[in-house]
Amino acid sequence: MRQKIVAGNWKMNKDAAASQTLVDALLQRKLPTDVRVMIAPPMIFLDRLAQQAQGTVLGVVSQNMHAAESGAYTGEVSASMLKSIGVNTTLLGHSERRAYFNETNSSLAEKTAAASLAGIEMIFCFGEELADRKSGQHFDVVQAQLEKALFDVDALDWDKVILAYEPVWAIGTGETASPKQAQEMHAFIRSLLAEKGSEQIAAQTSILYGGSVKPNNAEALFSQADVDGGLIGGAALDADDFMEIVNAI
Ligand code: PEP
Repeated sequence: MRQKIVAGNWKMNKDAAASQTLVDALLQRKLPTDVRVMIAPPMIFLDRLAQQAQGTVLGVVSQNMHAAESGAYTGEVSASMLKSIGVNTTLLGHSERRAYFNETNSSLAEKTAAASLAGIEMIFCFGEELADRKSGQHFDVVQAQLEKALFDVDALDWDKVILAYEPVWAIGTGETASPKQAQEMHAFIRSLLAEKGSEQIAAQTSILYGGSVKPNNAEALFSQADVDGGLIGGAALDADDFMEIVNAI
């Protein structure tokens, strides 16, 4: 179902005490009921924070998941492990995973298929690099990322797919896509969903924007017709900033 969503990606930030303090601070605020608010803390704190947020509207999601069910994959976690601690949503394909951990469209296709099979909801991240945009290839790059890791996957459960368009040149750089650039790409993505999937998939899939969303630019971005919310990095590490962004929807 298409819904308003703001998700905070903490990346590799916060220790045990600081992560608990941030969740406490968020839970003390009045979280809206018409916007899904989620956080993706470091894996090691997932279990504890999921318990802390249990029974509240705050969602706790994983930053990553392995495609295999179990086995000799040191350092990794599977869909069933996430589900066993009550975590039913994961980010997949974040640009940092693609850049530093060799994730590719084809390895991501395995992950999206595994998540779908296991009934895990995914926030699938994708977006072009600066060179792609400068050379006018950004639509082609985004289309290929979606085709190879999602559209080509058999039996993908679209009800459990949230898309996060994150131009790599805007992540952690302070440079944001303009509301017009974001809307243009989101409208293109929605048209692709209609063409390669169905009108229903296009109408029901939430498409988030990510890339240096801050309290001072969130409203302009979120007011675009095809922008259903945001995936927030740096500004999600501070409760006041994050809540200002949540309330900008
Ligand atoms: C992100 O990591 O997904 C992100 C969008 O980061 P930032 O908001 O810091 O650009």
